[in-house]
Amino acid sequence: MSCTMPVLMYHHISPKPGLVTCSPENFRAQMAWLAKNGWKTLSTAAFAEALASGEIPPKNVLITFDDGYLDNWVYAHPILQEFGLRATLFLITGWIGNGALRAHAGQGNLPDLPSHRQAMQAAAEGEKDTAFLRWSEVEAMRAAATFDFHSHTDSHRRWDREIADQKARDAALADDLAASRATLLARLGEASPHLCWPQGYFDAAYQRVAREAGFTHLYTTEHGVVRRHIDLARIPRIVCKDKPAAWFGRRMGMYGRPFLSLLYLSIKSAGKGR
Ligand SMILES: [Zn+2]
Repeated sequence: MSCTMPVLMYHHISPKPGLVTCSPENFRAQMAWLAKNGWKTLSTAAFAEALASGEIPPKNVLITFDDGYLDNWVYAHPILQEFGLRATLFLITGWIGNGALRAHAGQGNLPDLPSHRQAMQAAAEGEKDTAFLRWSEVEAMRAAATFDFHSHTDSHRRWDREIADQKARDAALADDLAASRATLLARLGEASPHLCWPQGYFDAAYQRVAREAGFTHLYTTEHGVVRRHIDLARIPRIVCKDKPAAWFGRRMGMYGRPFLSLLYLSIKSAGKGR
């Protein structure tokens, strides 16, 4: 029987508490749980292959990160490396800077990490280097095969909020996606068909523009597990919370089994009254 597969969503791995932040202790415990229980963390390409084959094997998971925070290098990278696991990172390509590698956990003098709120403020003030990755760090993670890198647009702007005219909005999004692809191609030598929407927003026009730009696998913030024959333009994900291994293990146990995950998700959405 084909299984269901969770696509996990993280943002920050950091000891600085804040929104969408998991502590290094809990992230390490969650990754240790996956390794100990024989789960396989897929590359994005292997994930696409599994979907194309129509058969989802048991105990497979795709781990995703959004935005490209410096703490992903400082904490997530060494933890993934420790357990021989891998993840996918959707970069805001225009926010990644230049410069030398900074230290990561285990290497001594760590950079001062901002909270999520401080990172957003730094981005708004043009001080992205204090909060976001550098290309040298992206290259090091790619070489270590702890992460593969894909598009989260170039600007992270919400064109649907900024431009009312449909044609002009479509053109702005198309330019944003083209810039992101061009940067990934120039920096990494390849631009993949995987795209994650800023703040999870998309509509039919967004999907069409993405398809025209060469993106076939579109990642959302819609809650759910992946099963075979899903709509690739609407890949759901599971928010990973700052919780210990026991919580994580219970969730993974449910999301990997078709009946239980469907039952759980339907109870959860009924509880939310939608
Ligand atoms: Zn984002």
